[in-house]
Amino acid sequence: MKKNFLFSLLFTGMALFASGMELVTNGTSSYTIVLPEKPTAVEETAAKELQNYLKKISGALLPVVRTPEFKGNSIRLGQSPENARLLGIDFSGLKPDEIILKKTGNDLILTGDSTRGVLYAVYEFLEDLGVRRWTRWDTDIPVRKTILLKNYDIRYAPPFAGRDRLGGPVGEFAAWMRVNGHYLGIPESYGGILKLVGWCHTFGMMIPRQQYFEKHPEYFALVNGRRGPWFPSCGEVQLCLTNPDVLRLLTEETLAWLRKEKNPRIISVSQNDSWGKMADNYCRCSNCRAIDEREGSPAGSLLHAVNQIADAVKKEFPQVLVETLAYQYTVKPPKTIRPRDNVIIRYCTRKNTLYPIASQENARTREEIKAWSKAADKLYIWDYTSNFSNTMMPYPSWRPFAENLRFLAENHAVSVLEQGYSCGEAGDLIPVQNYLLCKLMWNPYQDQEKLTGEVLEGYYGAAAPELRKYMDVSWEIYRKNQLAVKTAARNNAFGDMVASRVLSKLPLADLLVLRNCFDRAEELVKNDAEKLRRVRIAAMAVNFPILYSDEAYYKNAEKPEGRALREKINLLKLAEKTRKTVESLHRPDRYKEAAEASLERYIGSAEKYITGDWNKGRKVPPEFAGIAGDDLRIYGQEDFSLFSSKAGENLGYPVIKVGKSKGWKVHFSFDASHHLENSEWQVLIGLKTRFKGKPGGMVAADVTSTHFPARWIKLSEIMGDQFKYLDLGRHRLDGRHGYIALSASGVEQQLEMQYLILIRNGNYPNTEVPDICRNLNPEDYRIISSGKFNFWDNENRRSGHAVVVRSGKNSSLQCPLPALKGNWKIYLDMRADGPISGNAAEVWSKNGGHRRIYKLNEIGGNTYKAVEFGTADLSAPGLLTFSRLHPAAALHVRNVILVRQ
Ligand SMILES: [Zn+2]
Repeated sequence: MKKNFLFSLLFTGMALFASGMELVTNGTSSYTIVLPEKPTAVEETAAKELQNYLKKISGALLPVVRTPEFKGNSIRLGQSPENARLLGIDFSGLKPDEIILKKTGNDLILTGDSTRGVLYAVYEFLEDLGVRRWTRWDTDIPVRKTILLKNYDIRYAPPFAGRDRLGGPVGEFAAWMRVNGHYLGIPESYGGILKLVGWCHTFGMMIPRQQYFEKHPEYFALVNGRRGPWFPSCGEVQLCLTNPDVLRLLTEETLAWLRKEKNPRIISVSQNDSWGKMADNYCRCSNCRAIDEREGSPAGSLLHAVNQIADAVKKEFPQVLVETLAYQYTVKPPKTIRPRDNVIIRYCTRKNTLYPIASQENARTREEIKAWSKAADKLYIWDYTSNFSNTMMPYPSWRPFAENLRFLAENHAVSVLEQGYSCGEAGDLIPVQNYLLCKLMWNPYQDQEKLTGEVLEGYYGAAAPELRKYMDVSWEIYRKNQLAVKTAARNNAFGDMVASRVLSKLPLADLLVLRNCFDRAEELVKNDAEKLRRVRIAAMAVNFPILYSDEAYYKNAEKPEGRALREKINLLKLAEKTRKTVESLHRPDRYKEAAEASLERYIGSAEKYITGDWNKGRKVPPEFAGIAGDDLRIYGQEDFSLFSSKAGENLGYPVIKVGKSKGWKVHFSFDASHHLENSEWQVLIGLKTRFKGKPGGMVAADVTSTHFPARWIKLSEIMGDQFKYLDLGRHRLDGRHGYIALSASGVEQQLEMQYLILIRNGNYPNTEVPDICRNLNPEDYRIISSGKFNFWDNENRRSGHAVVVRSGKNSSLQCPLPALKGNWKIYLDMRADGPISGNAAEVWSKNGGHRRIYKLNEIGGNTYKAVEFGTADLSAPGLLTFSRLHPAAALHVRNVILVRQ
């Protein structure tokens, strides 16, 4: 096929005003809508749409007839022989989706390509009358009693026969926006979609690994000397494309798929998706390698195979194009092999979307497209404009839209997919992005600035100037902070977008500047409820990153920068407003539920740290009543997630069926939003069981954020009607995602769990101040708990408040000493098991050269003693090292106490 197949020429005639010719005069019309004698479903839709909108604009209901020879004033639709005669053209020569708007005498002809052209011609006419559809819910119709008929003479075909906005408009609205992509769900009567049989990554569907690998490993790629190394999390293994059986199977499957289709147009015969360890897992067997080395690219063996399949397709389906991907390892075209004229290359962009493809910033993509453009007649471009990391943040990818599409049109792209990841109205100016991309895919030679003004003013009304400013300022912020708007699918999980932290690296100060744009924008439309709703939806792209910023919610919330933010902005009010905005989203909106749940959690949690009332709504168990509010955190049922167990609804705490299955039952994440940084927390868990039988069972509890071993709790410890609080040790939780969990073994029993309690620097139940510090000012002593001790020997373990040293090696426990000004006397709070005489421990310090041996008669027994070590200058950090000396006496070290001298 020739280079200009599908590529269209532009005939934009002047649309001049006719002298006084009126389609509707004072709400009545002398015109009739004339359809062909046997209209297609699309022609019928075109007539219905035209009739409906003209009625809504002017009040006039134009009759529809199916008599093309109709005499009288008429709007003539479709591909009737009369229209062909009046236009002097042969409809079979029209390009895909081509439209014709032509005034002849008093009549207007609206027609075009049979698939969609006639409907598009009607939409073009209605838009010229001022009708605008902004989203599938929002249409503006200008009301006027008189409609003048212009001297239309327009013939236009879009440069891209395929126009896809994946994740954008769908259904009838997509037809109005003149997009026709595979997944857009457009009814056949509205022109349908441009179906791409198989869609993409079809090798694995045609030759499934599960079906063939065992018997025919030679069908699969040879990588690192092995056939088909496969890592399940890294996509699907590629094929050995020079294997004759692989080629035969692919050809058979391709033809079989096509035979099942009614009027197929394009089929995908394309490499599998793969990434990570398998990103370039193409075949290196000697035959494949010979081609790829000669061609300087693995696209060589790919095209070598796809061309042969395309030859077979051409014999049976001469109208069908065979699409293959230039993706990952095949982005570079081969040196000599050229795609057949029925092969279409779908190149996938990898770029910084802040800048045009043609710019230096995107030199690699630009050069790859140019190279493919030289190598191939027809390109299909898969372009990314969406933020896969998080759809709810500013994402200024809009600026080069028109320039990019012109670049693509000029480089033989005949189809374009502009991938979005929106799910309705929510996202960064989604209605604006959709409007611009759809309009510009239809005709990239339009003035983008003018289109931007049109959609901003039409959709956001008086707020338009502030939103225009927002667009520029956000672009500038990205440029200034050198935030590449990369679109690689780093975190493609849609469901995580609000549940997980905002991955934005946008500085808070910049986000506040953007928030100001929305403050002003909201002010400008405060008297227009619907426009205000739309502006507030747009503002969510800024609200979410502010609400979930480090300063608002995470690790800096309790630092001066967090306090400064709360002085500037009422976060709870912003969260509440955002929640109401989410509620106002049109259904169905995939975003809505996730966002609502996330905000619910946010508001509940934010209230606690903003008010300092950490235990709001909780009944403090009596044993913890004396602990200061900020040092005590009580977590209950709604803070846990339960695995395969039912929460006791009436009891107000989880009731866990243990013993039926092993494994963790309750999970608690020590999230940074709980503000547990900069302290050690003693973790306690309140449990009880009413088990009546032989108390042989055990329950395991663990805090797995560190290397702490599980604590095994005997059922006898927690039996009875009262909750018992069991110590899981002191931990530095530090915003790591830790877990606390319960599992069981060998028990068929119901376990009740009340609260998870955290006590800052807690020593519960030993809460009292050591005797040696009792009369001292708190400034003058420090207690270093065993939670800070380090050891590397598995024989040692943490137990309660102490580390138990069982290792016989030297230096088996270390306690770092903080840098403190001046001299400090050091006490060791420890004990050794057993009444045996002899040496119990040796302790020495890194600086100062102190060394002491403790005898069993000093520290032996069941009670801890604070024994003196010596005085040290702690201007620099120090280190105490412990060795156990007696093989039969375990050494228990609980605290190191420093007293200022
Ligand atoms: Zn091979």
